[in-house]
Amino acid sequence: MKKIIFITFLVFLLAACAASPQAGQPTLLSATTIPNVDMGSPQPTTKASDDLFGKMGIKLPVPACNGTFTAAQTEGPYYTANTPERNSLLEEGMQGKKLVVIGYVLAKNCQPLANVWIDFWQADSNGSYDNAGYTLRGHQYTDAQGRYLLETVYPGEYPGRTQHIHVKIQPSGGAMLTTQLYFPDSASNLSDGIFDPTLIVTLENRGDITLAYFNFVLNN
Ligand code: FE
Repeated sequence: MKKIIFITFLVFLLAACAASPQAGQPTLLSATTIPNVDMGSPQPTTKASDDLFGKMGIKLPVPACNGTFTAAQTEGPYYTANTPERNSLLEEGMQGKKLVVIGYVLAKNCQPLANVWIDFWQADSNGSYDNAGYTLRGHQYTDAQGRYLLETVYPGEYPGRTQHIHVKIQPSGGAMLTTQLYFPDSASNLSDGIFDPTLIVTLENRGDITLAYFNFVLNN
């Protein structure tokens, strides 16, 4: 009997060793811990945004380009890497007016780019950033049609800054664009030295939510 128990223990031990990564071997990261994209990074196989557009009844207009690229902007002091992957930054009890930011990520030839990494971060409705955790921070990937969709709330102003949402965008193997999005109805736009009118979203009111359209055009 003791011999059978000992053999069983040995079999389990060997199985556990075989399943554990060995020193020097790469281990797969989960999708939520991928800080960036490169040609070798594992990519998510499903995109939440594939369903969200249909569920929300959102149809994006055919993308148009005017030969200019989306302007780069300063990262600012509040970026945190390794954000969770998610299309919605909404959380239980979060204050603020709901906002859905949507659009395409386009190449310089105006073709939509699928599977582009996009990282968003912003202040809450009172103008405060969560610099300890990941509230109002998250990355996602454009879907097969090159679209992104971000559920969030309107960011509040903080001293010296008008309302804005920070963005980092990087196609697989391509250069990273860091920029910010602005709102057409913010009174503080003109007193903000960083504000760029080419980065204003187009708003559409849909009752309890507001859609904010913006297409990013990369110099890729
Ligand atoms: Fe900021």
